[in-house]
Formats: sequence, C-alpha cells, structure tokens
Amino acid sequence: MPLIDLRSDTVTQPTAAMREAMMAAELGDDVYGEDPTVNRLEVWLANELGFEAALFVPTGTMSNLLGLMAHCERGDEYIVGQQAHTYKYEGGGAAVLGSIQPQPIEGETNGSLDLAKVEAAIKQDDFHFARTRLLALENTMQGKVLPLDYLAAAREMTRRRGLSLHLDGARLYNAAVKLGVPAREITQHFDSVSVCLSKGLGAPVGSVLCGSTALIAKARRLRKMVGGGMRQAGVLAAAGLYALQHQVQRLAEDHANATRLGEELSELGYSVEPVQTNMVYVQLGERAGQIKGFMAERGIAVSAAPRLRLVTHLDVGTAGVERVIEAFAAFRSH
Ligand SMILES: *Cc1c(COP(=O)(O)O)cnc(C)c1O
Repeated sequence: MPLIDLRSDTVTQPTAAMREAMMAAELGDDVYGEDPTVNRLEVWLANELGFEAALFVPTGTMSNLLGLMAHCERGDEYIVGQQAHTYKYEGGGAAVLGSIQPQPIEGETNGSLDLAKVEAAIKQDDFHFARTRLLALENTMQGKVLPLDYLAAAREMTRRRGLSLHLDGARLYNAAVKLGVPAREITQHFDSVSVCLSKGLGAPVGSVLCGSTALIAKARRLRKMVGGGMRQAGVLAAAGLYALQHQVQRLAEDHANATRLGEELSELGYSVEPVQTNMVYVQLGERAGQIKGFMAERGIAVSAAPRLRLVTHLDVGTAGVERVIEAFAAFRSH
C-alpha cells in the first residue's frame, strides 16, 4: 500500500523523466555565472513571466528574503498579511537579516489584503516612522486565487503611493492554471515575483526570483551574502526547467482531486472550506488530536491541526483520493 502524503505539495518525488533531464544537464560553476542550465532556467522564466532578469535560489524562503532585501534598506518597512508565508513562516528573516520592519495586516477571507487597510497603514514621511516601501502579496494564498482585477487595483494603488509590489508566488502556477490564463497575466502587476519549483511543480529543490535587471543584480549580491551561491546547480535547475515545461498543465489534476476530496468530505458531514486549487481545509475541532494516528494506520500522512490542511499533488492519484475518502468515512464513524 503506497503512502499517501497529504501534508504538503513539497513532498513530491522527481519523476523518471525529470531525473533523466537532471542526469543530462550541462553544468558549470554558477557563482561564476557559467552554469548553462541555470542560465537557461533564469532566462526562460524571466521571459515567460515578463521580467528583465531572474535568479535561481535554493528555497522560496531565500527568494522572498532576497526580494524584500533588494527592495528595502535597513529601517524600511513592508506591508504584509498576518498569515503570509513571508511574515509568519520564514523565521522573521526580513527583520532579522534585512532589518526590514514588517507591518502585518489581517487578511480577508478571499486571501487578499483590503487595499484601504493597506493604504491606511502606509506611514507618512516623518522621521518618527519607518519608511513604508513595499507591499507583499501571496498567490495562491492558502489555496485561494487572488482575482486579476484585485491585482490591477493593488498595482494602481502601490504606484500612486510610491510602493513597490512583490508577489510570493510559491504557487503562482496553481493560480494561473485555475484562472486559465498565462502566468504573466498575474505577474505583469508586480515588480518582483518569487516562484517555487519545489511545490506542486514537482522539482526536488529550487525557487526563482524575477524582477528588473537592477533588482536581480542586487539580489545576486545578497544571495552570495546569505550563502545561497551554488556551484554546479544546473543539476537542480534542470529539474525546475523540466517542471516548468512539462508539469504545469497537470496541476489541473491536483485541483480536480482536491475538489473531489472536498465535496466527498463535505458529503460525509465534515466542515470543509470551499476548494479552489490543491488545498482542502477541514475543520476537525476537538477530534484533531486523533486524526494523525488514525490516518497513519491507513497509510495516509496528515499534519494534526484543528483546521486540517490536505494538499493534493502529483504523487496523489485519483485512486489515492478514493482511499483518503474511505479513511475519512471510517474516521467519522470511529
Ligand atoms: C513553501 C512556501 C514558501 C517558501 O518555500 P521554501 O522553499 O519552503 O523555503 C514561501 N511562500 C509560500 C506561500 C510557500 O508555500
């Protein structure tokens, strides 16, 4: 019985064809700018998303950090969601390593930040205050897709108020596939975008930061400083390129699997939040403590939480989803 791991879409294994692409990758020393595969990935993604330049980095955390540090100096401030990954799940890196003060804003249920609240949080030019420099959004945000007209409004407001706009697009492609638009329809509104190759796209490692030539040059210096300059990194970039060229459209399968899972759990009487992409959130309440062990006995890995997150990905097939539904039915009557 193969393990079904629903904790995250980070748990995917590289496919056989992806491993072949990694084996065949031409390599060089990327710190010298001489890894042809890394260079190809950076040029390819910058082009695809409509930016001048891009930078391959080991993780999404580093990609966001470099983006924030490239936009903001010490004593600057960025506005961010209270539940955003950059604020809550990255060890406070922007503050610790960048001396950038976060100004968190409570998010809306659709995953956006109310732009009126954001505007109200922008500090006046006064030496008492940190300088508000940047707004950081996340898309998808806990599986929710930010509407394109919202992004256009965020672009307009940030331009008007002199702020830069960064996207934590760890799951950018889930949003694009869900909307049925090229990813650049989303990224055109931003000054910088961080994309994870290691989530639903299925690469083992890697993220890419995209932006202007000047911003990426700054980020490249910062990448070296934080120890992210990698050498024959093309072996990893090859996996990312393969994912971008072959494993984007299949995200629709993950979304369909999540939708089916959500519908069936709801049918079984669970309280399930509306599903948009590859995440199903289930309110377990006081039974949260029992779920992990119960599912583990049935070969299903979940993280125990009162608001349980189930994530579909390329290693969870339709048969796997049926097994999960059966296990939840058993848990219900247990
Ligand atoms: C996973 C994730 C990141 C960071 O990626 P790592 O590669 O795990 O550092 C950033 N933002 C979001 C929304 C994520 O889900």
